[in-house]
Formats: sequence, structure tokens, C-alpha cells
Amino acid sequence: MKILFYAPPSSNMRSWLDDFRAALPQAEFRLWKEGDHAPADYALVWRPPAEMLQARHDLKGIFNLGAGVDAILQLGAALPAGVPVIRIDDGGMAIQMAEYVTHAVLGYYRRFDSYRQQAQRAEWQPLPPFDKQDFSVGILGLGVLGSRIAAALAHFGFPLNGWSRSQKDLPGIACYAGEDGLDAFLRASRVLVCILPLTADTHGILNRRNLQKLPQDAYLINVARGGHVVEADLLALVQQGHIAAATLDVFEQEPLPDDHPFWQEPRISITPHVSALSVPKDTIRQIADKVEVLQRGETVAGLVNRQQGY
Ligand code: NDP
Repeated sequence: MKILFYAPPSSNMRSWLDDFRAALPQAEFRLWKEGDHAPADYALVWRPPAEMLQARHDLKGIFNLGAGVDAILQLGAALPAGVPVIRIDDGGMAIQMAEYVTHAVLGYYRRFDSYRQQAQRAEWQPLPPFDKQDFSVGILGLGVLGSRIAAALAHFGFPLNGWSRSQKDLPGIACYAGEDGLDAFLRASRVLVCILPLTADTHGILNRRNLQKLPQDAYLINVARGGHVVEADLLALVQQGHIAAATLDVFEQEPLPDDHPFWQEPRISITPHVSALSVPKDTIRQIADKVEVLQRGETVAGLVNRQQGY
């Protein structure tokens, strides 16, 4: 069995190759280099160049080393038709997302940002607490990661709303679905958490029109992809006070340029795309197990639907 591996030279995933070799000792691994068109059974990739996958109809599967497949699907026609694309299912990321989002929601709800600012001025001033019933959290995306975030927030008793493509019925979550459900979902959500895949349908979804539907003094937490946010629209709504604050982990351009106005806006908290990192041990085990499943001719979980874009 021949396996091609690619991760950008800047990525720490390059160092995973030895662990993949140890997890699948029967396979012959090859780090893909420009001009390599030799046969292979599987490809393990993160942000691959088009040339790597172009016309590779010999592949039995393309494994994405992360949960989001937007960078692979963007290859369009360069992606061989009919070859299954398989994404990471949790892989240790769901708990990290739950930690990150819970921290941000509690920070807003318990007014830690305001107290931090007051402390800098040596100001002892208790602020009126928020009513939890007015602090509903709406989660855009109720998949592997979104449902784990919801479970974590449920422990604290926040009213929860969720939005997905297909209608769901989940205990403790007011579930909304599709275009028709988006308006009501947004109007009901004081804190908006975005954990959607980036697809043709979700690109730019956090635009002025949609963000304006959130209640006055809403909060935004984006842990999905920068392409979901229309950054100028968000900045304007924060500056106008409709959005009280935002916590952003992902951006249209990464690293966020030095002169980006978000850096100058104290109500916008920035982290450098760290809300959930692929855990090497979990990711490698999951892919090695799935390669063996495919080798037996069985179907695997985490198959990407190319039409839907995730
Ligand atoms: P899943 O595929 O498990 O879940 C996706 C969810 O989004 C599903 O509930 C799906 O609905 C919903 N959805 C997709 N398209 C639409 C649409 N057009 N309208 C309404 N709902 C939609 O993905 P994961 O939870 O595993 O991951 C989600 C995303 O998180 C990834 O694609 C990636 O971009 C991002 N991510 C970011 C990381 C970071 O470090 N910032 C790390 C890891 C992931 P339905 O259930 O009906 O299919």
C-alpha cells in the first residue's frame, strides 16, 4: 500500500510523517514533491497544491488532516472525481472548541472584560449582573464541534439555540434549520457562535444584514473560518454599539496584518487560529484505522459530500 503525504513546509504536521509510518507499518509513505506522479493508494493532506491531486484517479481515498475541508474542495476540477474525501471527526478538537467558547461566553456573561478594564484603573465597582435568561447562546452549526460546544454550555444553564442545514431535534436546544429558520434564530440569540464549515452557502454569512438581526448588545464568537465574516460590516456594527464585543480566532487573511483595524478595537479580542488544533495522536490513529477500514472494502465515517461542501 502506497501513501502520499503532504502538509505545507510551514506546518507542524510535516513532523507527523514518522508517527504515520509507525501507525501503518505495512504502508510505504512518500512525502509528495512537485513532479511526483507515481502511483499511490491514499493521500493524506493538509492544504495540498492542485498538482498533487490532479488526475489521480488511482486513489482510494484522500484524507484531510483537519475537520475543515474548504482548502481541498477549493481545488475544484483538480480534485479527482469519485475519489472519497474524508475529514477528521473530532480528533481531540471538540473539547478544545468547548473550552474556548465556554471561556468567551462566561467572560462576557460575568463581565470579566469590564472588570479587567476597571482593574487597570484601580476602580472597585460592582456592575449589575446580566440575567441568564437574556443571555441566550446561538450556535451556527450543530455538527461534531457545535454539538460539543452546546453540551458544555448546557452545564451552565444558558438558553441554547442551534442552526443547521437539516432540521434537528436535540434536548435542551431550540433547533432552527435552513434559510427559513435563520432570521428567527438570529433574533433569539444574544451570543452568536459560528462553527460552520466554509462553503458557497455560508461564505460571508456574518454580514451586516444578518448581524443586525441579533439583539442590541449582542456578542459574536467566530471559531470557524475568516471567510464567514464580512470584516468591515462587523467592525462598523461594533463601533456603532449594536455588537457589544467579538472574540475572533479566524480571519480573512492570516496572520492578521499588522495594520488591520481589528487590532485597534478594544472590543474585539483576537487569538491566532488556536481555538482547536488537530491532536497528532488522535488524528493519526483515526486516519490509520480508517485506512484499514477502506482496505477491507467497508465504508468509513467522515465522508465529505462535495456538493454540500462539507
Ligand atoms: P460538521 O460537518 O460535523 O458540522 C457542520 C454543521 O454545520 C452541521 O450541523 C451542518 O448542518 C451545518 N451546516 C453546514 N452548512 C450549512 C448551511 N448552509 N446552513 C446551515 N447549517 C449548515 O463539522 P465540524 O463540526 O466537525 O466542523 C465545523 C467547522 O469548524 C469545520 O468545517 C472547520 O471549518 C471549523 N474548524 C475550525 C477550527 C479552528 O481552529 N478555528 C478547527 C476545526 C474546525 P447539518 O447537521 O444539517 O449537516
